Amino acid sequence: MTTAHTSHSAIETDVVVIGAGAVGMFQVFQLGLQGLHSHVIDALPHLGGQCAQLYPDKPIYDIPGIKACSGAELVERLREQMAPFAPTLHLGQQVQTLAQDEEGNWLLSTSTGTQLRAKAVVIAAGVGSFVPKTLKVDGIETLVGTSVHYHPATLAALPLQGQHVLVHGGDELAVQAAIDALAHAPASVTLMHRRDVFAAPDALLAQLQAHRAADRIHVLVAQPQSLQAQGSALTGIEVMLADGSLHAVPAQQWLVYQGISPKLGPVADWGLELVKKQLPVDTGTFVTEAPGIYAVGDINIYPGKRKLLLCGFHEATLAGFSIAEYLTDKPVLLQYTTTSTRLHALLGVDHSTGK
Ligand SMILES: Cc1cc2nc3c(=O)[nH]c(=O)nc-3n(C[C@H](O)[C@H](O)[C@H](O)COP(=O)(O)OP(=O)(O)OC[C@H]3O[C@@H](n4cnc5c(N)ncnc54)[C@H](O)[C@@H]3O)c2cc1C
Repeated sequence: MTTAHTSHSAIETDVVVIGAGAVGMFQVFQLGLQGLHSHVIDALPHLGGQCAQLYPDKPIYDIPGIKACSGAELVERLREQMAPFAPTLHLGQQVQTLAQDEEGNWLLSTSTGTQLRAKAVVIAAGVGSFVPKTLKVDGIETLVGTSVHYHPATLAALPLQGQHVLVHGGDELAVQAAIDALAHAPASVTLMHRRDVFAAPDALLAQLQAHRAADRIHVLVAQPQSLQAQGSALTGIEVMLADGSLHAVPAQQWLVYQGISPKLGPVADWGLELVKKQLPVDTGTFVTEAPGIYAVGDINIYPGKRKLLLCGFHEATLAGFSIAEYLTDKPVLLQYTTTSTRLHALLGVDHSTGK
């Protein structure tokens, strides 16, 4: 691991959890039971990782004591469960660097410039950060942020007025963005997708149809081939139509909605040993090779590892005990949430009623 110099603007904290997936959320709860406050960072703008992003409406049948619940419902239950411990959330930002400072603490910096200095870090990074899929078109990288925008969180900050706006995608987000772009007085709005079929709710499709009929939104069935730009300003793109012919399209603002998928990303650059893109851990403590750095959930590996929620929850529980012992240098006694008045106080429940 490299050594970093402590930044004076860094947030000081005991524990940072990288990843707000189901396991990262349960880690916050377990750290809370140990009396520890967590800062949590995730590249996604919302909680829940894979459960929220990949299968929010699909049922899970193997959570103990819950016959069935959807991915979204599990995330909501975990959110409620960790709420008493009021974690500080840093969402919509990717942890880019993790390095040890001169005093042995861990310094983290994110894609939006947040810096944190922690005594312990839990990497609950799953199968990687959920980031927008990018396009492979020559010269596009230099236009990102000025003329090309991947999954913009809002259109409000984009310079769409008087511009030829090209919205690129076939899902609900793309259709909604094309409709929303009309409110920004653009020169034109084109919705480009490889097929003339859009995966969106019926009401939204009806709105799209009305805008198409009134010539406010032009639907283009095509795939991008190349782009034209002047400096960092996009002027147009060349597309291939379904019949294989090439066609020039005026475009100054290109809003790309090609989906969001996980990429291991910066975790691979932190100098930690990786085995099959996962972090080896000790199964009694879930610490990695680096003292103070723990790994739980899908990102870790050990003999017998199964990428299951239940396994991640177990790992987060033992990591919580281990981190508390690491920070205090004292053994932590087991207490039950059922009977411990200390845990009731931490949870904010009335110990006489347990509610
Ligand atoms: C379709 C499907 C169905 C499944 N069904 C079941 C089931 O029925 N039962 C079961 O037990 N398991 C199931 N699983 C597996 C289960 O979803 C995973 O084991 C679990 O979600 C892992 O949780 P996690 O918190 O470890 O990782 P994730 O949910 O992947 O969360 C990791 C988070 O870390 C963030 N992150 C990563 N790197 C960074 C970084 N550098 N900076 C900032 N953020 C970062 C990511 O954006 C992500 O949000 C299923 C999985 C899939 C895909």
